[in-house]
Amino acid sequence: MDIDIVSVFPEYFDVLNLSLLGKAQEHGLLSIQAHDLRTWTHDVHHSVDDTPIGGGAGMVMKPEVWSQCLDALLGIPDDVQTPKRVAPADNDAEAAAAVSDAASTQQCQTLDPAPGTTIIFPNPSAPLFTQQDAQELSRQHRLIFGCGRYEGYDARIPAHYAAAGYDFREYSIGDYVLNGGEVAVSVMVEAITRLLPGFMGNPDSIVEESYTGSQALLEYKQYTRPAEWRGQTVPDILRSGDHAKVDRFRRDEALVRTANIRPDLIEQLRIADLDKADRKL
Ligand code: SAM
Repeated sequence: MDIDIVSVFPEYFDVLNLSLLGKAQEHGLLSIQAHDLRTWTHDVHHSVDDTPIGGGAGMVMKPEVWSQCLDALLGIPDDVQTPKRVAPADNDAEAAAAVSDAASTQQCQTLDPAPGTTIIFPNPSAPLFTQQDAQELSRQHRLIFGCGRYEGYDARIPAHYAAAGYDFREYSIGDYVLNGGEVAVSVMVEAITRLLPGFMGNPDSIVEESYTGSQALLEYKQYTRPAEWRGQTVPDILRSGDHAKVDRFRRDEALVRTANIRPDLIEQLRIADLDKADRKL
């Protein structure tokens, strides 16, 4: 898998060379390249932002800088970079109309979306990134991440690339606001890449995990030696050597824990996913 990450702080991603992600890169399982968005600026100040149209606090990332960067990474030649400029819109409806006009022009039809490539921009106002998304994205060949800063990026960027046929996604990593997309991208990169075949030394490590599989539950509690520690003992059944009983104990614990902490996940279970013992709980 090839991963490109664009940010005004590309140094943020030096940490991705550590630990398992670093080893996976050394072994050629994936490549991660961080790019400085300011490479695609042409003014002396290397500005990537401008004031919000319609007023308000803060700055918004400019569409032209992002489109030059994304077009370059996607291998779209200069003469078909499209649309060169969509007129600034005064409201959402005008912006949507401008994008749809642009999409219907011959300019957009000249783009040739690369299969297996997904562009991802983190955004707190987007749908929540889940383990299912991580699983789906781990099957892609190439991921291009764009990190927002300030008040975010011009809303026409995702609309443009989606209209041109690219798989462009926006995800939130939680109901809170970060300073920038760098941490959110690090979270998504880690969640996706650990699912790549060969990434984990023991592939079983990612089979029985929270949010994983058709029955997405929270994982049961884990213990290691010593069996007794500071007055607390590991449940006897886990030391019984009876695998069927251990499995049942863990399943019950996962169900109860999920019902207490994430009842929404229990509601998503289908009745067919539950066995007789589950239903007694
Ligand atoms: N004005 C935006 C809002 O209220 O929704 C917040 C912008 S935030 C300060 C700047 C950038 O950080 C965003 O464009 C996004 O890339 C990133 N970001 C912040 N919180 C995030 C979250 N919970 N999930 C994903 N990305 C986030």
